[in-house]
Amino acid sequence: MKRFADFARRLWSKLKRSAPKRERSARPTPRGPVPASPAFPVPVPAVKKPKYEVRFYHGDYKVRQHKANQDGADIYIEHHFNSSFHESADYSLVVVGKKAGEKTIEIAYRYLTELRRAVGIQAWEGGRLGIAVGGMQGRGNYNLKFTKMPALLLEPLFISNPARADFVATIAGRETLARVLVDTVREAYPTGGLIAFSVGHKYKTSASMDRGAPINCDEIEGGLPGWEADLAEDVLQRAKRILEAKK
Ligand SMILES: [Zn+2]
Repeated sequence: MKRFADFARRLWSKLKRSAPKRERSARPTPRGPVPASPAFPVPVPAVKKPKYEVRFYHGDYKVRQHKANQDGADIYIEHHFNSSFHESADYSLVVVGKKAGEKTIEIAYRYLTELRRAVGIQAWEGGRLGIAVGGMQGRGNYNLKFTKMPALLLEPLFISNPARADFVATIAGRETLARVLVDTVREAYPTGGLIAFSVGHKYKTSASMDRGAPINCDEIEGGLPGWEADLAEDVLQRAKRILEAKK
């Protein structure tokens, strides 16, 4: 057995030696100037376009919030317009939940700041920097209290104020409000996210006719009904279009 093994080894080495050497594959010689290349690869940071998805939530306020939680939304925004018996009432306001964290407060403040810059409207003088934490005497807190993410209830202006009503009645005015909201979202979530929108008053199961307060002007550009909820919905739809635009 040993002799056979020796024989096999010798035969194998003989065969290996006599086998023709394989030609090295010819590489094409680069012609012309050799392109300058860095000595080591320079890492290029991947510029990823932020991606936003906007979903509208319907049903009673509590149901909407639970649905947004289930979907893992990054932020929840409910849009209203304010109204008062005093036509002169004129300020912007954001309601946040009673247990709102710092991030929520920051986003609310950013929205009000942007609103002042773009529309020239002052924030409410009460609360914390124009923010009603836990609602106006509790009003509005329920609309946000079940959310697990930053949640805001927007009252950008009074539609009972004739000058502000005229502004919201124009398409340009509603587009401006949409852009203020979009800028706020983009700044708070620069890499994108799932954005939950809720139209105040509208689409409630328990009060399907509710549309909120009436606007204090006769004509609305774009053929919208003159109610708070329809105007708010239009602003949110515009914001959705801008956020989800592919460009
Ligand atoms: Zn409202």
